[in-house]
Amino acid sequence: MPGTSETECTVRLPERRTHTATCDDTFSGDATVHCPLSLDARFVRSCQRCPRFEREVFSGAQAWVECRVPLAAADPHGSCGELMSPEVTCLDSELDAERAAEFLEFAGVTSAPVLDDNCVLVGIVSTTSLARVRLGSGLRLEVEDAMSTQVVTLTQQATLGEAARLMASRGVDRVPIVTDDGHLVGVISAMDLVRWLATRLP
Ligand code: SF4
Repeated sequence: MPGTSETECTVRLPERRTHTATCDDTFSGDATVHCPLSLDARFVRSCQRCPRFEREVFSGAQAWVECRVPLAAADPHGSCGELMSPEVTCLDSELDAERAAEFLEFAGVTSAPVLDDNCVLVGIVSTTSLARVRLGSGLRLEVEDAMSTQVVTLTQQATLGEAARLMASRGVDRVPIVTDDGHLVGVISAMDLVRWLATRLP
């Protein structure tokens, strides 16, 4: 049972969604929040069974979970898990390269994490690399033929400073966030860091 109301407060946890384009032209995905107690991603459907859960709120394009936690846990830790982008576009590694390029164009992004059947991150692919393999061969090619497997990642517990330093040293503006066993839970972008700074700088 949660503790007394004097020592707790309600926190608002923004939902994150991954949209993965799959081989059968469907999109799989699930909503998660960053749990301030376990400091990792939790499916919203599992939060609904948690005794601390209060409600799920939808407002325009945004959605969040409200739950009661001890005051000490309510303060932000400044971690990547707290600040991840709300929407992540992903591709199934076996998706046709032509379809993948169309999907990225539709989603308005120039690169995307690539997942295997178990939602484990196996690479990253860009519109440029997809175009290169499509031009270079008359064969039917898949996303895994175009992806790079050299992907830098961070965990949810990594600090925002670590994310900024990694982006600066590797020349990237998006870093996938993964669990210890490699499952993708989100992405942190340079724009996420800029938005966070914008709320704190004078
Ligand atoms: S409802 Fe429970 S599991 Fe979900 S974020 Fe809140 S404390 Fe964590």
